[in-house]
This record gives sequence, structure tokens and C-alpha cells, in this order.
Amino acid sequence: MQSSIVTVASTTKLGCRNCARWTEFEQPPCRDGHGPDCPEWYCTECGAATLVGWSMDRRELHRRAGGSRNRAVA
Ligand SMILES: [Zn+2]
Ligand SMILES: [Zn+2]
Repeated sequence: MQSSIVTVASTTKLGCRNCARWTEFEQPPCRDGHGPDCPEWYCTECGAATLVGWSMDRRELHRRAGGSRNRAVA
């Protein structure tokens, strides 16, 4: 039984500009207080940092808000 092994860092597949392909990105512990919404991800292949989530979410909001006048309150 390996009950004490916990993987803290979460990973996700993202397109890395440096690697010019899809690679695995890892989210480091956030120091800026973003919590689980931290947009900082690091490519596990080349170590390049990228910000994801926020800009993508905004585009998504713009798309969805195209017809309605809903305001996203931060
Ligand atoms: Zn952060
Ligand atoms: Zn990379």
C-alpha cells in the first residue's frame, strides 16, 4: 500500500511556444496569492513559464456575452 504518496503539483497539456508542440505543463506553488486560480504554468520540457487561464477565460466571457449584457464582477 502506498497511502502516503501525494502528488501536489497538477499538470496539464498546453502548447509550448519554445517547444513548438504540446507538452506537459506544471503549476508551481503560487507565491502571489492567486490560490487555485494561479495562471502561472511551467513547461516541464523546457521550463518556460506561461500565463494561462485568465486571458482564455476573458475570451470565453466575451464570446458568451456577445448576445447578453451580463457583467462579470471580479
Ligand atoms: Zn500565482
Ligand atoms: Zn516547452
